[in-house]
Amino acid sequence: MPSLFRPLPRVRPAGFLPERRWWIWLALLWLALASTSRAEVPALSALPEQALGRHLGILPEMKQPLTLAEAVAQQQQGQFRSTEQVVPKFGIGSPPIWLHLAVSNDSDQAVRRQLQLEISWLDRIEVYHTQGTKVVGQWLAGDGDASFQHPLPGLGYVFDVQLPPGRNDIYLRVATTDPLVAPLRLLDAAQAATLKQQHDYGYGLLYGFLLALIAYNAMLFIGLRERGYLDYTLYLGSFVILHLAYSGHAYAWLWPGQAVFQQYAIPLMMVTFSCLGLRFASGFLNLRQHAPLAHRLVYWLIVSILGLVFGAVLLRSPQAAVTIAFLFVLIFSVTMVWLGIITIRHGRIAGRYFIAAALTTLLGSTTTALAVWQGLPYSTLAFHAAGWGVVFEGILLALALAYRMRQHQNARLQAEQLARTDPLTSLLNRRAFFEHAGPLWSAALRNQRPLSVIMADIDHFKSINDNHGHATGDKVLAAVSRRLAEACRNSDIAARWGGEEFVMLLQDTDARQAAQLAERLRAEIEGLKLGPTGYPMKLSASFGIAQLGEHESLDQLIREADQWLYQAKQNGRNRVAGALQTESA
Ligand code: GH3
Ligand code: MG
Ligand code: MG
Repeated sequence: MPSLFRPLPRVRPAGFLPERRWWIWLALLWLALASTSRAEVPALSALPEQALGRHLGILPEMKQPLTLAEAVAQQQQGQFRSTEQVVPKFGIGSPPIWLHLAVSNDSDQAVRRQLQLEISWLDRIEVYHTQGTKVVGQWLAGDGDASFQHPLPGLGYVFDVQLPPGRNDIYLRVATTDPLVAPLRLLDAAQAATLKQQHDYGYGLLYGFLLALIAYNAMLFIGLRERGYLDYTLYLGSFVILHLAYSGHAYAWLWPGQAVFQQYAIPLMMVTFSCLGLRFASGFLNLRQHAPLAHRLVYWLIVSILGLVFGAVLLRSPQAAVTIAFLFVLIFSVTMVWLGIITIRHGRIAGRYFIAAALTTLLGSTTTALAVWQGLPYSTLAFHAAGWGVVFEGILLALALAYRMRQHQNARLQAEQLARTDPLTSLLNRRAFFEHAGPLWSAALRNQRPLSVIMADIDHFKSINDNHGHATGDKVLAAVSRRLAEACRNSDIAARWGGEEFVMLLQDTDARQAAQLAERLRAEIEGLKLGPTGYPMKLSASFGIAQLGEHESLDQLIREADQWLYQAKQNGRNRVAGALQTESA
């Protein structure tokens, strides 16, 4: 018959005590009765819904593994200490810990409860439920071996406990190479259901957000082929896998039963996530160009951490891998903020968004890392801080990427604008004129509306240049252009045709109206006072008018206006010439 005095190798049915050791158990019974009178055992109803740290007795297993009987004896000798922590925490590399919970069922019927240990990464958990000298239930769970009871995703380890009337003792032996945390609860069905619902909605919201961000960035990458979006998608993706790994979802869904892989999955994903984060930052902040030294440092940081962690895996030391990973996540978070500061120092706006994003990750990951490792009290909120930190980071970086896109767009619009306008006169250039004129031409034909062209040319402009200098010539060109632009309605187009020659396309305007406009412009130009003091400058321009008639193309219409302009020049300049009106001067 198997004995409880040896470590538990496998889940076995609960059994009565071996008779041979009845005298030990008699002693234990006496001790149990004695300790019952000493320490008050809380009633079931007195236990809080929260974690039960303050109700637990704790015994680190310093030397040899203890059997249940030895642990019970130690408990009865008062060797278990109590703690003020609601969730007791023992850090990385802790020896196995024995936990003891005594509770009394004051009713006259057995009561069902769920014992929950809400951390999925514990390697091996032995649970013994005893009443008096009898073991009434025992379980073996953990992710250290595929044959152990698996964690429930998000909930950790859940054990169905039947508590008979009277005093019940629950002993747990917990061992892991990861940070040892023990959020232990004893819940009734309704409380367990509420907790599960909170978890389901919480994880649904978190993963929903993260998946939406991943899809958004992946789409942007597919659409824009910009490396930054791919880097960010991979970074977020690695975080989701890391989160799935440490919340127990991955062991349940992605690599079920792969206990050896599970041992290294969390540190490997922590390192992968941090490296991809640095890779993204390096590209997003364009470190290679703006901060080559930081770029090299980040590169060597990635290489050396990958080397260290793979070394730990090769040496089969999960504990070393976990320690390296935790340290690296802290270094990573600080490095991200530092990179943001460098970028701001370079006066680049990307750095401002980035640093806000990096700070939320720093806050989130550090809170989670310290809450499960050491330094901060453990709480569900702290446990999930990393996830929400990354969500906020994602939102801020999405804004940053959108901001960058807007900057690119503005620059492109500006470049396009520059390519279309003449810098000296700010009028459209000849190419832009045809782009704008096309629709006006088609609309006039379609609606059979009048359309007219004015060609204008400054008279003897060469001599203005010669007499007053090229700079004055430029001023004259700008002043004349301003007059033309002011004379245009929104629907009209004025452009510099080249040199000191201009073209205007007037919608819904016949030749007579165009000639009136040209005449007004001619008079205005003649009246311009631009000459240097003492040398009044003689300035005038000639105009040619053509109205859309039998013309086959806009070119043809312009050619006709140009011919009338030539006519105006021939007839003595400073005049308007066209088909429908007599020349004016
Ligand atoms: P006409 O009355 O027959 O039109 O004589 P014109 O001198 O005005 O015509 P012409 O075509 O002989 O000379 C045009 C001059 O305009 C020659 C060129 O140097 C000058 N020009 C062309 N573009 C610019 C410019 O952007 N700035 C200045 N200042 N001068 C220019
Ligand atoms: Mg001229
Ligand atoms: Mg000319």
